[in-house]
Amino acid sequence: MQVRAVTDVAGVSKTGKLYVVATPIGNLDDMSARALKVLADVSLIAAEDTRHSVRLLQHFGIDTPLAACHEHNERDEGGRFITRLLAGDDVALVSDAGTPLISDPGYHLVRQARAAGVPVVPVPGACALIAALSAAGLPSDRFIFEGFLPAKTAGRKARLAQVREEPRTLIFYEAPHRILECLEDMEAVFGGDRPALLAREITKTFETLKGLPLAELRAFVQGDSNQQRGECVVLVAGWTAPEGEQAVSVEAQRVLDLLLAELPLKRAAALAAEITGVRKNLLYQLALDKQKPE
Ligand code: SAM
Repeated sequence: MQVRAVTDVAGVSKTGKLYVVATPIGNLDDMSARALKVLADVSLIAAEDTRHSVRLLQHFGIDTPLAACHEHNERDEGGRFITRLLAGDDVALVSDAGTPLISDPGYHLVRQARAAGVPVVPVPGACALIAALSAAGLPSDRFIFEGFLPAKTAGRKARLAQVREEPRTLIFYEAPHRILECLEDMEAVFGGDRPALLAREITKTFETLKGLPLAELRAFVQGDSNQQRGECVVLVAGWTAPEGEQAVSVEAQRVLDLLLAELPLKRAAALAAEITGVRKNLLYQLALDKQKPE
């Protein structure tokens, strides 16, 4: 059966709204007044784990019906929610904790809703990576979120190597049973001196934010098994060129080399500067040095 959007008297389409609602990452007092109102007012709540969310709703005295929307069914069964939305019902999307879609399900449903012309409304709140960054004392003007790293060392090190010379602050989610090996791999790839911070159990009883160079942070976690428990976010300072060295990353040099093989020196340096963001003069000088006979 084809479902068409409900129309009002003027014939204007009147679909429901999909609210993307953040929930607490530990401390229930972080639930916003707006989130509570939305969850109480919508017709249906699409939840990552209905058994988990029902406890949260019970705590706040909300009895809105729940339906499962998790990573295994959201792509195929998102249509169920879209049908309700197009029929005019408001739906809220929640995950087990924090902001949906952030290392959590919801991406396919949000895409489907937008494609169907359903308004998608964010209801912001807790998010572990933002909470950690806000208190880390690491540069926060530019950062990248890498989510969860691969579970095995080889894959993890390969992914870390891709961001070794990334100048922005790096943020990772990690499972507690892998935190030590993750820090060991970070120390191996980024070097033991790189400033880092482990944010554990944010907003909970045993909240710990420990900022140390990677080698010391790894030793701290290794020496205290309590640090290998609970939920954690790892932040690592972005790469800075060692004092006195030219700030041209391996990646920028690779781009320059590729362009130098095809273009005149000046053009290659200018294009490489545009692509990589490195100063043109620096790349020009580097290109000249490369072309000098040994
Ligand atoms: N959607 C969530 C958010 O907005 O942060 C993240 C969900 S992801 C499945 C779960 C991961 O988030 C955990 O493994 C941990 O890395 C991080 N996390 C969630 N709650 C946390 C907390 N209270 N303290 C530290 N890290 C947390």
